[in-house]
Amino acid sequence: MNTMDSFLSIFNQYNWNEVKERIYSKTKADVEAALVRQSRTLDDFMALISPAGAAYLEPMAQLSQHLTQQRFGKTIQLYVPMYLSNECNNICTYCGFSLDNKVRRRTLSATEIIQEATAIKAMGYEHVLLVTGEANHTVHVPYFKNALTLLRDHFAHISMEVQPLDEADYRELIAEGLHTVLVYQETYHREDYKKHHPKGKKSNFQYRIETPDRLGRAGVHKIGLGVLIGLEDWRTDSFFTALHLQYLERTYWQTKYSISFPRLRPFSGGLEPKVEMVDRELVQLICAWRIFNQEVELSLSTRELPRFRDHVIRLGITSISAGSKTNPGGYAVEPESLEQFEIADERSAAEMARVIADIGYEPVWKDWDMNLSKP
Ligand code: SF4
Repeated sequence: MNTMDSFLSIFNQYNWNEVKERIYSKTKADVEAALVRQSRTLDDFMALISPAGAAYLEPMAQLSQHLTQQRFGKTIQLYVPMYLSNECNNICTYCGFSLDNKVRRRTLSATEIIQEATAIKAMGYEHVLLVTGEANHTVHVPYFKNALTLLRDHFAHISMEVQPLDEADYRELIAEGLHTVLVYQETYHREDYKKHHPKGKKSNFQYRIETPDRLGRAGVHKIGLGVLIGLEDWRTDSFFTALHLQYLERTYWQTKYSISFPRLRPFSGGLEPKVEMVDRELVQLICAWRIFNQEVELSLSTRELPRFRDHVIRLGITSISAGSKTNPGGYAVEPESLEQFEIADERSAAEMARVIADIGYEPVWKDWDMNLSKP
């Protein structure tokens, strides 16, 4: 595909160090101007995530909360990941499923997928996120099609976080009931991307960064973006995520979008974060996103601790996972297999729903119905 037709042609016009310099030179006056504007530019987003913006956490939190309630009401959507496989041909320095991590590999059979689905349904879920490593010889398009066929009558919303695929593959999967695809760039820093993905298909930076374009052209309902916080300077990486989102919203305007903020978590054989992001900074980032963009869904996983999650669900987050297992078969088939990363919030789905209700919000189990997508 011609790079002129994708985000890459825009991305190539930017220089990482120059962007970083622009963010770090933002002043209090820039932040104050960004806070009072009716609609915000990427330059305003830079100010909101800048070190200068850190002094405005309280007004940012108030504005973010107001804008979120205005657009989404007092609701929090609930979803849960279902890990189908931990087989992976890639080496990623930050992941427990990396090829060089000597662990037992397993891919769920059709019967096991149904067993897991039954356990997840019993927790109340209608929205499931299917997750796999990247092992194209076993976990491929026919496998995904079969999984969707097995699950589509049981769940109202099916998302996927698997290897990037071609546009035609996405079209086939959408026809089988796929609604949403999450594809995190991990980092937009090209050289560091190479360092963290030394082997396997994921080392192809261009194929990955153009994946949301292929999804947009295939007509997927929703695309999830994000970076792995801890690999590189989170402010600069967040700017590039915002640039990416802005391009996608303008190009594939019928598609919905979500943003996630995964912070690097410990795992078996783990990588230490290069850049530590403290809780206050994650709050700043979440609020900055909401002030910048009132339509985008903001999602938070169980990588974060309960106290932190309970605090930020009021400030701009619109969807969370709960009761998650990050190992294939973790709910019913083989609860003891190796996790992709450690969970920080172990509370069950029911407990989380209670917490949401206790602070005056409505937990939403079903945000989408497959029948709505049919002509
Ligand atoms: S991040 Fe994904 S591709 Fe990389 S090792 Fe883990 S499962 Fe494999």
